[in-house]
Amino acid sequence: MGYLWKSESSTNEWEDSQDGYFDMIMNLIANIIYIINFLFIMLKKCRECGETLIDGPPQERSAESERFKVTIKGIPTKICPRGCDGFYWYSPDLGMEVIDTLDGKSENIARLKGFFRYRQLCRNCKKELEPAENKVFKFEKKCRKGTVIEMIISAPSLFCSRCNLYFLPAQTASWGDSYYGELTDVIAKALSKDLIWK
Ligand SMILES: [Zn+2]
Ligand SMILES: [Zn+2]
Repeated sequence: MGYLWKSESSTNEWEDSQDGYFDMIMNLIANIIYIINFLFIMLKKCRECGETLIDGPPQERSAESERFKVTIKGIPTKICPRGCDGFYWYSPDLGMEVIDTLDGKSENIARLKGFFRYRQLCRNCKKELEPAENKVFKFEKKCRKGTVIEMIISAPSLFCSRCNLYFLPAQTASWGDSYYGELTDVIAKALSKDLIWK
């Protein structure tokens, strides 16, 4: 995890463009998946009896690794109207929707500076942050079903000694980020626990 903070200096010019670029790609991917899923959602049938699934009660699941503990509340589900066992994911992109909850613009997430060399800055005063102990962060997002997904994460944090604030690090890239790699693994573990997802 150490490499998140190893860079000392960088130029300023990429600072804002990178945030926008990442969001643009994520939005594009989300929209494509949404269109594909729109066609599939209507076809979702019970695995056992073939009946068309109906809305089920929201579920709560938790999972952890050495560094992270994640609880997801309000997971939207589908169930079989004939009473066959199992809670199904509400849509095949539920995982993506939950990951989306970690919006880089969240007040809980550090501000990222640099392009090839990253620095994690305080969202409030822009001071460079220091590695700190595990803290609990809460994220909320209205999902496509219209209900609210809540994710509570205990994770190694970053600290601003000037503002006395803690942050989750910003994601440095969609590849090769071991912090977010491990975190998304834990989220995936929680979302596939006693839930039918494919
Ligand atoms: Zn059934
Ligand atoms: Zn600060």
